[in-house]
Amino acid sequence: MAQAPQNRDLTERFIEFYRNYYREEIGTLAQQYPKEKRSLHIDYDDLYRFDSELADDYITKPGQFQEYAEEALRLFDLPADVKLGQAHVRMRNLPETVDIRNLRVNDDHIGTLISVQGIVRKATDVRPKITEAAFECQRCGTMSYIPQGDGGFQEPHECQGCERQGPFRIDFDQSNFVDSQKLRVQESPEGLRGGETPQSIDINLSDDVTGKVTAGDHVTVVGVLHIEQQTSGNEKTPVFDYYMEGISLTIEDEEFEDMEISDEDVAEIVELSNDPAIYEKMVESVAPAIYGYEQEKIAMILQLFSGVTKHLPDGSRIRGDLHMLLIGDPGTGKSQMLSYIRHIAPRSVYTSGKGSSSAGLTAAAVRDDFGDGQQWTLEAGALVLADKGIAAVDELDKMRPEDRSAMHEGLEQQQISVSKAGINATLKSRCSLLGAANPKYGRFDQYEPIGEQIDLEPALISRFDLIFTVTDDPDPDEDSKLADHILKTNYAGELNTQRTNVANSEFTEQQVDAVTDEVAPTIDADLLRKYIAYAKRTCYPTMTDEAKEVIRDFYVDFRARGADEDAPVPVTARKLEALVRLGEASARVRLSDKVTREDAERVTGIVESCLRDIGMDPETGEFDADIVETGRSKTQRDRIKNLLELIRTMQEEYEEGAPHEEVLERANSELNMDEKTVNDQLDKLKMKGDIYEPRGDVYRAT
Ligand code: ADP
Ligand code: MG
Repeated sequence: MAQAPQNRDLTERFIEFYRNYYREEIGTLAQQYPKEKRSLHIDYDDLYRFDSELADDYITKPGQFQEYAEEALRLFDLPADVKLGQAHVRMRNLPETVDIRNLRVNDDHIGTLISVQGIVRKATDVRPKITEAAFECQRCGTMSYIPQGDGGFQEPHECQGCERQGPFRIDFDQSNFVDSQKLRVQESPEGLRGGETPQSIDINLSDDVTGKVTAGDHVTVVGVLHIEQQTSGNEKTPVFDYYMEGISLTIEDEEFEDMEISDEDVAEIVELSNDPAIYEKMVESVAPAIYGYEQEKIAMILQLFSGVTKHLPDGSRIRGDLHMLLIGDPGTGKSQMLSYIRHIAPRSVYTSGKGSSSAGLTAAAVRDDFGDGQQWTLEAGALVLADKGIAAVDELDKMRPEDRSAMHEGLEQQQISVSKAGINATLKSRCSLLGAANPKYGRFDQYEPIGEQIDLEPALISRFDLIFTVTDDPDPDEDSKLADHILKTNYAGELNTQRTNVANSEFTEQQVDAVTDEVAPTIDADLLRKYIAYAKRTCYPTMTDEAKEVIRDFYVDFRARGADEDAPVPVTARKLEALVRLGEASARVRLSDKVTREDAERVTGIVESCLRDIGMDPETGEFDADIVETGRSKTQRDRIKNLLELIRTMQEEYEEGAPHEEVLERANSELNMDEKTVNDQLDKLKMKGDIYEPRGDVYRAT
């Protein structure tokens, strides 16, 4: 094709640019083309250094300039037998990235090259897409070649040979295909302040950049911004959507932290870390509007700082992230505490168990209309999106059945495998889970084992390092303090709102400030977020001998309390790992690289109070890890066993089976069980199929 002189000049410019900057890369490309490599990646900085005007034009007219650059590649001096016929030039490393949420028509981004950053929320399978279709006329055999773009599949109007309207047959061998993939990239959680809903943009990829990323990856994408008309049913609407033709794709370093921490910040953080009252100050900085919950709040702080992820010499890995669960009565401030995490966590995702997307909490392979055809799409859920951060999940007990099984792996191995419809992917979910759940029957009953009261399976419950139960018991003393606190918080809110909205408010700024100060967090949320990021980045504490001793003694002592006869095993090794993680987190709060005796004592205290809440068998007062691990206390299991034995014995006396009345009586006299308990247990046995009723009110064991 003959080019206008100016275009020839531009192509020449690119050839010169390559000679100066990319000779070697082009050599490698030529050797590996087309099997292993089909693209020359150029760095924007290099082009800018070579010719700033050329670089600017490349941004504003990417279509045209990419053509000159690719033409230059074809014309570049290469060994005689090598041709780079279809090689691409892919620009990367633009000086600026555009916030997905800030894309505006007036910024003149449409049609230009932009760079966006975020996390891959959805990724389709890689599928061949036709770029040029060859149609054979069934009447005369003439071939027509029709280029295929994005707007639907184009067929020939008439045969180029006999000029009749077909019929045609597509010849796949003579058609051209390219690999294609579609992504949805969503703003990274750390970019969002105060819980904004993340925005996303769809990106089409083709050829050698497809199949490189999967849901959950953090990426920077350079591409051309386009708009596309929205449709509603079959109608076109006046509103358009943004999308991008992706040119280059960079997977960001996993540790990437957007947060900038200045030298002044560091000075302030270090000073705070030396304050003897730092733990109290931390507690006062979590959800200050919520009264009480010191234990829960310090646990949340430790969760934010997290333990150290350990890599063992044998290649295995022990998670450092802490999982924590709040179970309890409605209206006790659980949701409020959970949502406060968004203000202080450097990277967080807040969602409800029901999930707001089809991927729910873990991940899903779905077949929806996201892809062009009916492609399978892999979609990342909350735990994947919160990778390297914290996932706050309210109403965890309401999670979808699909999530339940995937959750176990997600929490312990910190990855989520999806295997469905030819998609086999393992997504990373190295996050801490902060969950809240309501009791199944509305209110928490201290005398019922925890496993019976929440809709979570025991195996899942046992993955939590800390479980707090929150009960709403009337207590005049506490209630009046709580009331004062809520009134004070609300009053501060009232003053503040009135000052901002009413021009001649009777309150002075000083008055407002005085009240506000009383209910404000001690450490400002912004600083706390930086503090946490800084500690996690720089601080990798190890155990001192004294700390090891405290934790070992605590563990051994607790186990010993249940060691006699066939008493329940009180605490499992999982708790021991939890103690180590908590100890490390406690040291990180002081920016210390040593876990000291005090750290160990602090965390054994927290764990003990948690266990007291949930691991204690209310009927015997003994600690019982079975309650946590299997959801049933030993007493209770014994009781069920004994009742079953009783029915077995009785059916030898009564041929038809044990009569209900008689069972009640003997269970009461021999097993010391009251009527309600017996009836409950009978229901359970029936449900499990251990007994049946051959006719009304008599029971037989199976
Ligand atoms: P939950 O999620 O436990 O059902 P919420 O977090 O929705 O409860 O709390 C209900 C309301 O009660 C909120 O407005 C919250 O501010 C208030 N509330 C409950 N407990 C406290 C508390 N300890 N201190 C201050 N406010 C509280
Ligand atoms: Mg709630």
